[in-house]
Amino acid sequence: MAQIRIQNVCKEFGPFTAVQSSSFTIEDGEFFMLLGPSGCGKTTTLRMMAGLELPTSGEIFIDGEEVGMKRASQRDIAFVFQMFALYPHMNVRRNISYPLVSQGMKREEVRTRVTEVARILRIEHILDKPVGGLSGGDRQRVALGRAIVRRPKAFFMDEPLGALDAEFREHMAEELRALHDRMGATTVYVTHDQLEAMQMGDKIVVMNHGVVEQFGRPQQIYDWPATKFVAQFIGSPSMNFLDFEGMIGINGNSVDLGGIKVKVPAAREGRAGRLTLGVRPEHVSFRDDAVYRGRVSAVEYLGTTQIVTLATQHGELKARISSARTVREDDLIGLDFDTRTLSLFDAETGKALI
Ligand code: ATP
Repeated sequence: MAQIRIQNVCKEFGPFTAVQSSSFTIEDGEFFMLLGPSGCGKTTTLRMMAGLELPTSGEIFIDGEEVGMKRASQRDIAFVFQMFALYPHMNVRRNISYPLVSQGMKREEVRTRVTEVARILRIEHILDKPVGGLSGGDRQRVALGRAIVRRPKAFFMDEPLGALDAEFREHMAEELRALHDRMGATTVYVTHDQLEAMQMGDKIVVMNHGVVEQFGRPQQIYDWPATKFVAQFIGSPSMNFLDFEGMIGINGNSVDLGGIKVKVPAAREGRAGRLTLGVRPEHVSFRDDAVYRGRVSAVEYLGTTQIVTLATQHGELKARISSARTVREDDLIGLDFDTRTLSLFDAETGKALI
């Protein structure tokens, strides 16, 4: 098992900066997600940790030891590139034992290890089958088995479920997480899917344009987004943003949304100017006597809840409310915000103020 720390790590490809001065720590045994949109630098960050790419500057530590100049093969990690990459002419047992045999490990030891891995992955019954005829899920388990059998310090996975259809993807995500909980090995997992990151991760790093925007537990990131980018990237539908000219103080007070006062939590520092109020759709409620109003432009039925889109004086706003309430297009509705859960950002920098 391993603790992995990256400190002020940068990566440049010629004039292009793919990763800018990134720092975060992955604790021993964590299931850690590198999350962000395409091209934000997740894969490059993972490859640098794995030793497949050299940082332009900065340091990488594994269990306290600086490994920047160590090759991938010396870092004792398993990189699960593509779970379906198996040797087609070998059976399951030989596929799993291959990394050990090629290291020259004794037959007895190989046998014991493969049996143990098969038990962990619950694939004892297919050990002597050819991989050709296996189902997608079993192929995936065998590929994982090949990574686990070496007992590396950490597992690195780059969008391992990317090629799967939605239903199977969800099933394998649960299985991967359960496997991690049984083994407890540090796992670093790259994804652009915020839901996958929230469901699977102990911690998440959110990246954008090569910059670490935030790093923390899923709930921390959801409830206290550090930037507007994180706030809109995490959660579906996205957080609503209401721009206004105003002032906030450190004692917690109200902001003026065009004549309507909304109570906000205390800010870290007083600020005046262009501000953005962030409200998650599930924190908007309908209240007939509320002064702030919106006109319904669309209703999307989702079973127990519905997403209602409204036109307000601050633009479009989405509310997630119970389907028990009947809502029709063109209705004029009074809106209330759960003031304990609001976010507030500097409109220019996008940085959170509370
Ligand atoms: P994706 O999910 O699309 O793979 P990512 O967040 O993993 O995105 P990276 O693969 O880390 O992003 O790439 C970050 C940026 O660095 C991209 O703009 C990419 O084009 C660029 N890049 C990556 N590798 C190289 C390279 N070897 N040479 C030049 N540019 C590169």
